[in-house]
Amino acid sequence: MSLPSQPRRIVIAGASLAGLRAAQSLRAEGFAGDITLVGAEPRPPYNRPPLSKSVLTGDDDVTLPGDEVDAHWLGGRRAISLDVAGRRVAVDDGSDLPYDGLVIATGARPRRLAEDQMGYAGVHVLRTVEHAQALRAGLGGVAGAAGRVVVIGGGFIGGEVASTARSLGAEVTLVEAGELPMAGVVGEVAAGWLAEHHRRNGVELITGMRVVGLVGEGGEPGEGGEFGEGWESGEGRRLGAGRGARRVRAVRLDGGREVAADLVVVAIGVVPNTEWLEGSGLTLDDGVVTDQALFAAPDVVAAGDVVRWPHGLFGERVRVEHWANANDQGLLAARNLLRGPAEAEPYAEVPGLGTRVHGARVQWAGLPHLGDASHLVAGKAEDDKFAVAFTRGGILVGAAAVAFPKELNRLRRGIVAGSALAAG
Ligand SMILES: Cc1cc2nc3c(=O)[nH]c(=O)nc-3n(C[C@H](O)[C@H](O)[C@H](O)COP(=O)(O)OP(=O)(O)OC[C@H]3O[C@@H](n4cnc5c(N)ncnc54)[C@H](O)[C@@H]3O)c2cc1C
Repeated sequence: MSLPSQPRRIVIAGASLAGLRAAQSLRAEGFAGDITLVGAEPRPPYNRPPLSKSVLTGDDDVTLPGDEVDAHWLGGRRAISLDVAGRRVAVDDGSDLPYDGLVIATGARPRRLAEDQMGYAGVHVLRTVEHAQALRAGLGGVAGAAGRVVVIGGGFIGGEVASTARSLGAEVTLVEAGELPMAGVVGEVAAGWLAEHHRRNGVELITGMRVVGLVGEGGEPGEGGEFGEGWESGEGRRLGAGRGARRVRAVRLDGGREVAADLVVVAIGVVPNTEWLEGSGLTLDDGVVTDQALFAAPDVVAAGDVVRWPHGLFGERVRVEHWANANDQGLLAARNLLRGPAEAEPYAEVPGLGTRVHGARVQWAGLPHLGDASHLVAGKAEDDKFAVAFTRGGILVGAAAVAFPKELNRLRRGIVAGSALAAG
């Protein structure tokens, strides 16, 4: 171990997937000192992927596989500042936690529309169990009566919500600012297919159009809407603060068109939770910036959705918002913290994610947006089964596939190996 002579205290800020895995990794590496997990949410670490899937249709199981750890958990508490030189983390209960090593794993929160727009009843975001339960209740309410759901943002969470809302019988409109949903993530061929797939499944897809505001049933919105920002904003507003607020009635698009809505889901991406690090001297740039081994400062590592790091394989600084990334970075960041920079390993896993939209499996790997060329390497979009490879200077950097996991895996191996595109 190369932390100052046998570290005794490690603080982990953020008690979700990356924070939990970091704590488990410390124990697995033989760390016998104190671990304190400071987590803004009032419940122990849980699994977020089911929140846009099974939880919306009634299954409340969000257990994280392997959620046991020998650590002191400060639940419902928020780290509010960091003193790197003094090695202390201040917490919102007034305490000051000294550390020998720190793991930053404060993740991200949903990006919101302008604050005055978010307070209408019937407006939702999706990041926490409470958000998912509120959305489920809302969908149950509108779906039975063929209610109108407008999803703002055609990313993977927006797509999953649109798909679930359709399966529950709602009329769904998906508004995407880009020309095609997820084009930046899966490339144009797969995004074009996805657009058609949404339409074939009864979603009204509006692309190339920005939402400029929400329209309520008259009067002003209340505070906090139904999504109860509470621990995300740190402002202490709790779930249900918007009860009694005016209901949302429509979504207003650039150009003036209004799309009628009984329920609105704002799924326009996330913002990394780094405000508490301002003034700490750490570099913040849409995330906390680290080196390849996830060090943000001496004896300070970071992991998960909050990190922007120089990816060893692609050369760029990236921030990745995927489960496996948070899981694996949590494990490695903690190991590197114990070993110190001289023996630390760079984190260079190839990102990848899969989603199901109206029953179809859509997967991607690597960083397709880095490609300077794309190649349809297997199948055909018309057959709803195909794979696309992305190359930069002839070298594989990304892949996307619809209903073709075998091909996606083959391409993924090529990305990991830094191979040129080979025939299938
Ligand atoms: C609805 C949904 C569906 C998803 N589906 C998939 C999927 O199918 N596949 C996939 O790969 N990924 C999916 N993801 C993404 C995946 O869940 C995330 O990448 C993962 O949760 C990131 O983990 P994390 O620990 O880095 O951050 P987070 O899960 O964001 O956790 C950060 C924690 O830190 C807390 N926190 C914030 N600020 C502070 C502070 N100052 N002090 C203390 N605590 C703080 C937060 O409240 C939170 O509990 C999904 C995410 C969502 C929201």
